[in-house]
Amino acid sequence: MVEYRKLDEALTGGCQCGAVRYAVGVQPDNVHVCHCRMCQKAVGGSFAVICPVLKSDFVVTRGAISWFHSSAVARRGFCKDCGTPLIFDYPAYPDIGVLAGSFDQPDRVPPVVQYGVESRVRWWHGLEALPGDKPTYADDPERMLPRIRASNRQHPDWET
Ligand SMILES: [Zn+2]
Ligand SMILES: [Zn+2]
Repeated sequence: MVEYRKLDEALTGGCQCGAVRYAVGVQPDNVHVCHCRMCQKAVGGSFAVICPVLKSDFVVTRGAISWFHSSAVARRGFCKDCGTPLIFDYPAYPDIGVLAGSFDQPDRVPPVVQYGVESRVRWWHGLEALPGDKPTYADDPERMLPRIRASNRQHPDWET
Protein backbone atom coordinates (compact mmCIF):
# COMPACT_ATOMS: atom_id res chain seq x y z
CA MET A 1 0.00 0.00 0.00
CA VAL A 2 1.41 3.34 -1.06
CA GLU A 3 1.53 6.11 1.55
CA TYR A 4 0.54 9.49 0.14
CA ARG A 5 1.66 12.53 2.11
CA LYS A 6 -0.80 15.41 2.07
CA LEU A 7 0.80 18.69 1.05
CA ASP A 8 0.46 21.98 2.91
CA GLU A 9 0.32 23.72 -0.45
CA ALA A 10 -1.09 22.02 -3.57
CA LEU A 11 1.20 21.31 -6.48
CA THR A 12 -0.20 23.26 -9.42
CA GLY A 13 0.64 23.17 -13.08
CA GLY A 14 -0.66 23.30 -16.61
CA CYS A 15 0.15 23.69 -20.25
CA GLN A 16 2.27 26.36 -21.89
CA CYS A 17 -0.68 28.49 -23.07
CA GLY A 18 -2.66 28.21 -19.82
CA ALA A 19 -5.86 26.78 -21.35
CA VAL A 20 -5.43 23.70 -19.13
CA ARG A 21 -4.54 24.04 -15.43
CA TYR A 22 -4.52 21.40 -12.71
CA ALA A 23 -3.80 20.90 -9.02
CA VAL A 24 -2.47 17.95 -7.03
CA GLY A 25 -2.92 17.78 -3.26
CA VAL A 26 -0.36 15.09 -2.49
CA GLN A 27 3.32 14.47 -2.97
CA PRO A 28 3.65 12.13 -6.00
CA ASP A 29 5.02 8.71 -5.15
CA ASN A 30 7.76 6.91 -7.10
CA VAL A 31 8.51 9.81 -9.46
CA HIS A 32 10.45 8.26 -12.33
CA VAL A 33 12.45 9.07 -15.41
CA CYS A 34 11.12 6.99 -18.30
CA HIS A 35 13.44 6.50 -21.26
CA CYS A 36 11.05 4.27 -23.23
CA ARG A 37 10.58 5.08 -26.90
CA MET A 38 6.89 5.88 -26.46
CA CYS A 39 7.66 8.45 -23.74
CA GLN A 40 10.39 10.00 -25.88
CA LYS A 41 7.90 10.53 -28.69
CA ALA A 42 5.06 11.59 -26.39
CA VAL A 43 7.05 14.41 -24.78
CA GLY A 44 9.20 15.29 -27.79
CA GLY A 45 12.26 14.88 -25.60
CA SER A 46 14.86 12.26 -24.83
CA PHE A 47 13.05 11.08 -21.69
CA ALA A 48 9.93 11.79 -19.66
CA VAL A 49 9.74 12.50 -15.92
CA ILE A 50 6.47 10.99 -14.67
CA CYS A 51 4.86 11.80 -11.30
CA PRO A 52 2.23 9.22 -10.23
CA VAL A 53 -0.72 10.40 -8.12
CA LEU A 54 -4.10 8.84 -7.40
CA LYS A 55 -6.78 10.06 -9.83
CA SER A 56 -8.80 11.14 -6.79
CA ASP A 57 -5.93 13.51 -5.86
CA PHE A 58 -5.72 15.13 -9.33
CA VAL A 59 -8.09 17.97 -10.28
CA VAL A 60 -8.35 19.85 -13.58
CA THR A 61 -9.00 23.46 -12.51
CA ARG A 62 -9.28 25.05 -15.98
CA GLY A 63 -10.09 23.77 -19.47
CA ALA A 64 -10.02 20.14 -20.49
CA ILE A 65 -7.31 17.62 -21.25
CA SER A 66 -7.30 16.09 -24.77
CA TRP A 67 -6.18 12.50 -25.26
CA PHE A 68 -4.16 10.41 -27.67
CA HIS A 69 -4.67 6.67 -27.14
CA SER A 70 -1.12 5.45 -27.68
CA SER A 71 -2.16 1.79 -27.27
CA ALA A 72 -5.17 -0.27 -26.21
CA VAL A 73 -4.19 0.17 -22.57
CA ALA A 74 -2.64 3.65 -22.31
CA ARG A 75 -3.41 7.23 -23.29
CA ARG A 76 -1.47 10.50 -23.29
CA GLY A 77 -3.08 13.74 -22.18
CA PHE A 78 -2.18 17.10 -23.73
CA CYS A 79 -3.52 20.60 -24.39
CA LYS A 80 -5.22 20.75 -27.79
CA ASP A 81 -4.50 24.49 -28.08
CA CYS A 82 -0.73 24.54 -27.52
CA GLY A 83 0.23 20.84 -27.66
CA THR A 84 1.91 20.66 -24.26
CA PRO A 85 2.11 17.04 -23.04
CA LEU A 86 0.61 16.81 -19.53
CA ILE A 87 -0.36 13.26 -18.52
CA PHE A 88 0.38 9.57 -18.95
CA ASP A 89 -2.59 7.38 -18.06
CA TYR A 90 -3.53 3.70 -17.87
CA PRO A 91 -7.34 4.17 -17.73
CA ALA A 92 -7.76 0.91 -15.82
CA TYR A 93 -5.37 1.99 -13.04
CA PRO A 94 -6.22 4.14 -10.00
CA ASP A 95 -3.29 6.50 -10.55
CA ILE A 96 -2.11 8.77 -13.36
CA GLY A 97 1.33 10.11 -14.22
CA VAL A 98 1.66 13.88 -14.35
CA LEU A 99 4.59 15.03 -16.50
CA ALA A 100 7.04 16.84 -14.25
CA GLY A 101 7.86 19.69 -16.61
CA SER A 102 4.24 20.85 -16.60
CA PHE A 103 4.30 21.56 -12.86
CA ASP A 104 4.73 25.19 -11.83
CA GLN A 105 7.57 24.06 -9.54
CA PRO A 106 9.25 21.02 -11.15
CA ASP A 107 11.87 21.06 -8.40
CA ARG A 108 9.23 19.73 -5.99
CA VAL A 109 8.99 16.37 -7.80
CA PRO A 110 12.49 14.87 -7.99
CA PRO A 111 12.70 11.40 -9.60
CA VAL A 112 13.78 8.39 -7.56
CA VAL A 113 14.16 5.69 -10.25
CA GLN A 114 14.62 5.17 -14.00
CA TYR A 115 12.52 2.93 -16.28
CA GLY A 116 12.71 2.05 -19.98
CA VAL A 117 16.51 1.98 -19.82
CA GLU A 118 16.69 -0.20 -22.97
CA SER A 119 15.89 2.98 -24.95
CA ARG A 120 18.02 5.39 -22.89
CA VAL A 121 19.99 7.74 -25.14
CA ARG A 122 23.68 6.91 -25.16
CA TRP A 123 24.68 10.44 -24.15
CA TRP A 124 22.64 10.28 -20.90
CA HIS A 125 25.66 9.62 -18.69
CA GLY A 126 27.53 12.59 -20.14
CA LEU A 127 24.83 15.18 -19.36
CA GLU A 128 26.29 16.41 -16.08
CA ALA A 129 29.69 16.98 -17.72
CA LEU A 130 28.33 19.23 -20.48
CA PRO A 131 29.31 22.89 -20.20
CA GLY A 132 26.40 24.78 -18.67
CA ASP A 133 27.47 28.04 -17.13
CA LYS A 134 25.24 30.39 -19.11
CA PRO A 135 21.61 31.25 -18.34
CA THR A 136 19.08 31.61 -21.17
CA TYR A 137 20.19 34.19 -23.75
CA ALA A 138 23.19 35.18 -21.63
CA ASP A 139 24.97 36.50 -24.70
CA ASP A 140 21.75 37.88 -26.19
CA PRO A 141 23.38 39.02 -29.46
CA GLU A 142 20.07 39.87 -31.11
CA ARG A 143 18.52 41.45 -28.02
CA MET A 144 16.03 38.56 -28.04
CA LEU A 145 15.29 38.45 -24.32
CA PRO A 146 13.53 41.85 -24.08
CA ARG A 147 11.46 40.98 -27.17
CA ILE A 148 10.49 37.60 -25.74
CA ARG A 149 9.60 39.13 -22.37
CA ALA A 150 7.48 41.82 -24.06
CA SER A 151 5.51 39.31 -26.11
CA ASN A 152 5.58 36.20 -23.88
CA ARG A 153 2.42 34.10 -24.30
CA GLN A 154 3.51 31.35 -21.90
CA HIS A 155 1.25 31.07 -18.86
CA PRO A 156 3.13 32.09 -15.70
CA ASP A 157 4.11 29.49 -13.07
CA TRP A 158 1.23 30.38 -10.75
CA GLU A 159 -2.56 30.58 -10.77
CA THR A 160 -4.17 33.47 -12.64
ZN1 LIG B 1 -2.27 24.97 -23.76
ZN1 LIG C 1 7.75 5.37 -20.92
